[in-house]
Amino acid sequence: MNTEADVIVVGSGLAGLVATYELTRAGRRVVIVDQENQNNLGGQAFWAEGSLFLVDSPEQRLLGIKDSRELALSDWLASAGHDRDSEDRWARRWAEAYVDFAAGEKRDYVYRLGLRLLPLVGWIERGEGTATGHGNSVPRLHYTWGSGPEVVRTFRKPVLAAATRGLVTFKYRHRVDELVIEGGAAVGVRGAVLEPSREPRGVPSSRKETGRFEIRAQAVLIASGGMGANHDLVRAHWPTDRLGPAPATMLTGVPAHVDGRMLQITERAGGSVVNLDRMWFYNEGMKNWAPVWPGHGVRLLPGPSPLWLDATGRRLPPPLFPSHASLATLRHLRSTGHDHSWFIMTHSMVDKEFALSGSDQNPDLTGKNCLLLLQRFKKSTMAPVRAFIENGEDILVSRTLSELVEGMNALTPEPLLDYARVEREVVARDRQVANDYGKDMQLMAVRNARAYLPEKAVRITAPHRLLDPAHGPLVAVRLRLLTRKTLGGVQTTLGSQVVRPDGTTFDGLYAAGEAAGFGGGGVHGYNALEGTFLGGCIFSGRVAGRTLAHDLA
Ligand SMILES: Cc1cc2nc3c(=O)[nH]c(=O)nc-3n(C[C@H](O)[C@H](O)[C@H](O)COP(=O)(O)OP(=O)(O)OC[C@H]3O[C@@H](n4cnc5c(N)ncnc54)[C@H](O)[C@@H]3O)c2cc1C
Repeated sequence: MNTEADVIVVGSGLAGLVATYELTRAGRRVVIVDQENQNNLGGQAFWAEGSLFLVDSPEQRLLGIKDSRELALSDWLASAGHDRDSEDRWARRWAEAYVDFAAGEKRDYVYRLGLRLLPLVGWIERGEGTATGHGNSVPRLHYTWGSGPEVVRTFRKPVLAAATRGLVTFKYRHRVDELVIEGGAAVGVRGAVLEPSREPRGVPSSRKETGRFEIRAQAVLIASGGMGANHDLVRAHWPTDRLGPAPATMLTGVPAHVDGRMLQITERAGGSVVNLDRMWFYNEGMKNWAPVWPGHGVRLLPGPSPLWLDATGRRLPPPLFPSHASLATLRHLRSTGHDHSWFIMTHSMVDKEFALSGSDQNPDLTGKNCLLLLQRFKKSTMAPVRAFIENGEDILVSRTLSELVEGMNALTPEPLLDYARVEREVVARDRQVANDYGKDMQLMAVRNARAYLPEKAVRITAPHRLLDPAHGPLVAVRLRLLTRKTLGGVQTTLGSQVVRPDGTTFDGLYAAGEAAGFGGGGVHGYNALEGTFLGGCIFSGRVAGRTLAHDLA
């Protein structure tokens, strides 16, 4: 089958939508091809809580945060640690361009399309304790009013409007299996038409083929996302040298369509795919008690206060505190020889610090509901948090530490926790709470974070004893690794054109979003500062759309 269009966009996720928005603004005709049905329009972004990394924004200034492009770039480059001559050649330049965007046009770009932010800025990935190392020096996480679905709406609306003008054609249930290359240039895609599916969003769909298709255009844009749902690929690229062995079991933080196939297809066609050994995992995964996709895990987005113990009850060393340094913590946890770790919290900590990642877990933001938003002051009253505490298989509540540890031991195949060791850690930590100063670095970090008033008000409890019954009952959470983002991907120029392994550009082939490592094949390098993925899709989708609109005949 032949369909006339200027550009074929593979993937109807955020990056594909943004690129299509830009292309149609320039009057270009686009065919969007996606293996899933139309219920999945917007891809992963729909599931996101919609947090966006912005620099020196009006929201930050209102809250007295002194941020700047220079500080953000220094944080970004220190976190990224781009250290590969060839693979990071474009990624490094994308990093600078992206920080410029986040400190400049990004907010206006989405505001013009109706997206609004809460006047609250969160602080996450606070770093490893050095000014020159990984981490956000200041809060930069901006919350979209309407969360991920609103981010999707922002670009879906003009794209659907362009479709009614005949500029966009959607080809759902069309799975691309091959790029059509002629005379060294990408001129189209080929693949399988999959049987119709009525599955709701995020639910895996049938892969039964009912026919073949071929579509041709002047150029092809790959916007097919990463590989987080494909554990075989994750394991194949797992960086054992840096992180230690991969866990035997992992939870899955993305829908099944995040399968990484297009990365392999692009590589087979001659595109350069780089840095796939850089992935962004979360250590705080809990099994979703009401799963949508196979192995569905939800991230506990913790405040900095929980006591973090490894599987045997040893406290994690400084500066590996909750919400400080994801990959450094993962490296440590992999060295313990066990696949899980534990948070021990008080109920007061749950009330202020127990947040869950995802639009479905944040109905106040997603539904733009001000009354529900007030419940953030007491998170245990929020329905999704309550439901997790009541139904989640990884959560235990108990009045006494001994009962709690007994329950924790009963939850794992082997009773790995020695009560005396856990009690020693808890009591020693509790002794440090008596004064407003002390030698416990986690408590110092908590006090420092509370110097930022919004976090003090809604996010971080005043330091208190874990064994203080007034803050009870005690809560333990078993944590496992959750796959999420692919930081590497298809290598592109600053104009989103795919590069070949010899460094030359690939005519007619472009890439954006997670498939392109959020720009250039790995804009984040080794570490992310968070809220940078949706923004990375917006930025790289915008660049790809504008470049194509300008360059095509
Ligand atoms: C629960 C959750 C919470 C998140 N929270 C945040 C957040 O708050 N802030 C943030 O910055 N980021 C967040 N993210 C990450 C962010 O949402 C994703 O990185 C981003 O949406 C990826 O968009 P994309 O367009 O690159 O790819 P995707 O959304 O994965 O879309 C790719 C599309 O391509 C299609 N496709 C793939 N292969 C083929 C093929 N061979 N043929 C046809 N179609 C194909 C897929 O079906 C899919 O529809 C979150 C992600 C999740 C899952």
